[in-house]
Amino acid sequence: MDGYTMIREILEKSTYTVAMCGTDMMKESGMQSMRAPEISYKVEREYGYSPEEIFSSVFYSNRTETFFKYYKKEMLEPALEPSDGFFALAELESRGLLQYAVTNNVYDLPERAGCKKVLNLHGTIFDNECPRCGKEYPMEYIRDAKKIPLCEKCQIPVRPKVMLFGEQVDNQLMTQAVNEISKADVLLLLGTNFNSGLCDPYVKYFEGSKMILINGQEHFMDKKAHVVLHEEVKTALPKIVWPNGRDA
Ligand SMILES: [Zn+2]
Repeated sequence: MDGYTMIREILEKSTYTVAMCGTDMMKESGMQSMRAPEISYKVEREYGYSPEEIFSSVFYSNRTETFFKYYKKEMLEPALEPSDGFFALAELESRGLLQYAVTNNVYDLPERAGCKKVLNLHGTIFDNECPRCGKEYPMEYIRDAKKIPLCEKCQIPVRPKVMLFGEQVDNQLMTQAVNEISKADVLLLLGTNFNSGLCDPYVKYFEGSKMILINGQEHFMDKKAHVVLHEEVKTALPKIVWPNGRDA
């Protein structure tokens, strides 16, 4: 039996499956990692600071204009689209084979592919709020603002509800992730590894029967999973979901 068939059978037998979608799944959708040396270098040359410095709560408060210049150009303009991995995930959910997805991606990629039960641990670029009056603003309002996007009523900066460096995951979201993972019979780790910021705090709450890991990048802790596929999620998951091709 090949790995795809094995995983398909585990998913079909599972009573409750939770997927964790990591950063490598975003990269498959075209996102550039802030931590990649060539990106860091480019950003430092253009803005005078590293991406980690700019994308932090301290920087947001003190150098708001530069923060938004960076945020709009580097995070909103690339306009990522969900990869086939996310569409395969949505198909699993619609067949009743996936109960929940947890992600740290801020681009709403699972939802835009059709997933309905998704927990965005780090928030999303589509939620923006005035910290004073609570008025909500769409992503386009931030993207199209000339300089700093200001609340129409309060004239103070509208805050994108994404987690910045130096901030903690919201307590309620954390509890919800732990609840889902502890309910799961099967845990599907996609585009991530056990050592990542997404998995490390949560996998210990898993009490189910099988962990499946799919990732193009190998990691020495991968063997903790019961089944491992070293392949990009965007090619592997569609083969699991649509063994005879997507149109069959
Ligand atoms: Zn306001």
